[in-house]
Amino acid sequence: MLKARETLGIGAGASSGGSALALVPTMGALHEGHRSLIRLARERAAHVAVSIFVNPLQFGPAEDFSRYPRTFDADVEICEAEGVSVVFAPSAEDMYLPDRQVGVSAGGMGSVVEGEFRPGHLDGVLTVVLKLFNLVQPDVAVFGQKDAQQLAVIRRMVADLNLPVSIVGGPTVREPDGLALSSRNRYLSPEDRVTALALSRALTAGSARRAPAEIRRTALAVLEAEPSLALDYLVLVDPATFAEVGDDHAGEAILAVAARVGSTRLIDNVTLAAG
Ligand code: AMP
Repeated sequence: MLKARETLGIGAGASSGGSALALVPTMGALHEGHRSLIRLARERAAHVAVSIFVNPLQFGPAEDFSRYPRTFDADVEICEAEGVSVVFAPSAEDMYLPDRQVGVSAGGMGSVVEGEFRPGHLDGVLTVVLKLFNLVQPDVAVFGQKDAQQLAVIRRMVADLNLPVSIVGGPTVREPDGLALSSRNRYLSPEDRVTALALSRALTAGSARRAPAEIRRTALAVLEAEPSLALDYLVLVDPATFAEVGDDHAGEAILAVAARVGSTRLIDNVTLAAG
């Protein structure tokens, strides 16, 4: 298989300036959030590769792998318009040997918060991200803060496994009314979409408070006022470890929420200053 670096004529060891390569991993169905990451990548590197791969390893058996939106032609058009040099869109057979044995474990960080509701999800994410790093060999990789725990475990993997890739986090892009952009938003009916606004509303309300207990209480009240929303979790966590912070915590924290609206599961988060 020709590596992205070879396609672009980038020699091994090129790591900065005019020849650097940035990777933006995605599952396709690209939207403004992905575009913002591509633009960040372009600021960091001369060449940008976008991967499009709906990774079966990160979906649970009862999750939406088979109905996940696949819009490849539109995605390629977006990549072209954004000046992307390489689109890497492997098949599942290209990526995984049928008798695959070895993967990456997210350790304890993989079983809390999102990991409690999606067992194995973060292991699946890390396994595919490491494989993408090995295949594309980027100098820089850009991920969204929208998936804050994913970003935190990827940073942890890079540190724990000494991976030669700089990780850049991009801010969450939202609709004007606050809804975080997501490929899954297209599943929402007009009524669901109104219900879904409670997530960002709760995070905004929580961010206006300082004491951890008040932050949690304020955000929870907004979510509980929305009867058609099924809450998975609302947590206030340490941004690096995703461990819940205590009531005496002072400093940066992430207020993260996951909830189901109809048959769609949505996540959102905000970084705030507690204490
Ligand atoms: P996905 O295609 O959902 O796997 O997402 C690919 C990348 O885009 C991940 O790093 C996500 O965190 C990021 N992303 C998804 N939604 C947004 C958003 N609304 N704003 C910024 N980045 C996002």
